[in-house]
Amino acid sequence: MVVRRDSAVGEQESGEGKKTAKVTTKGTSGKSAGNPESRTALVRRARRINRELAEVYPYAHPELDFENPFQLLVATVLSAQTTDLRVNQTTPGLFAKYPTPEDLAAANPEEVEEILRPCGFFRAKTRSVIGLSKGLVEQFDGEVPGRLEDLVTLPGVGRKTAFVVLGNAFGRPGITVDTHFQRLVRRWRWTEETDPDKIEAAIGTLFPKGDWTDLSHHVIWHGRRICHARKPACGACPIAPLCPAYGEGETDPEKAKKLLKYEKGGFPGQRLNPPQAYLDAGGRPAPPLGAG
Ligand code: SF4
Repeated sequence: MVVRRDSAVGEQESGEGKKTAKVTTKGTSGKSAGNPESRTALVRRARRINRELAEVYPYAHPELDFENPFQLLVATVLSAQTTDLRVNQTTPGLFAKYPTPEDLAAANPEEVEEILRPCGFFRAKTRSVIGLSKGLVEQFDGEVPGRLEDLVTLPGVGRKTAFVVLGNAFGRPGITVDTHFQRLVRRWRWTEETDPDKIEAAIGTLFPKGDWTDLSHHVIWHGRRICHARKPACGACPIAPLCPAYGEGETDPEKAKKLLKYEKGGFPGQRLNPPQAYLDAGGRPAPPLGAG
């Protein structure tokens, strides 16, 4: 992996052209310290970060287990306020009992609540997945639609959920602005926007559309494994030279290494059934609910 310490400093523009605050980069060569970062330099740095992350996580994939668009849609709704691991441990039981939208639309809510209990907010989530199943049956003949404007008409389905489904079940490019994505793009000064829709629009201007889905995986994987919310592992971060926020977390390499999660830290991943590329790279499947 080749990294240069020359482009992570300065006053820069957001994806919508607004000036943002001047930033300084700790731990870089300081070659361009104090210089404003042009729009062109920002685009280059952003794309370089994405390329570096593609090398670090060549097997990046959606971390929700699914076998069809319906399962991905339900799993994505269930993933609010919990980990993908917990969802993956819960959905096998749910889909074994209710394999189709028709089954879930006709389900007894109390029985669904019992299955979804481990995911937290299980009453609201039960209402959501039964509601969206009814929507699928009533409006779309029991099929998950492959268009953003249709998906967002389903109860409990917003743009983030819709993009996850479009990108990963239909192969349509989309940017998934989840909590990790929001945190990291702000740390990298890719945008100063805080509203998810505005972040999505701003970041969309930095990358070709065909990169959007993989970019989302790379950023989210980095947020989960290395650039954590409270204690980013800066000292073990492969893109530190490109990051204006270097030093926000632990910079000691040995201490930073201990903060790494999932396969970077020697722990299993989140999917019970991960893609082969992940297993080939040494990743381990997550255990089912109740194991160990
Ligand atoms: S871990 Fe530190 S250096 Fe790496 S991207 Fe996050 S804030 Fe930047």
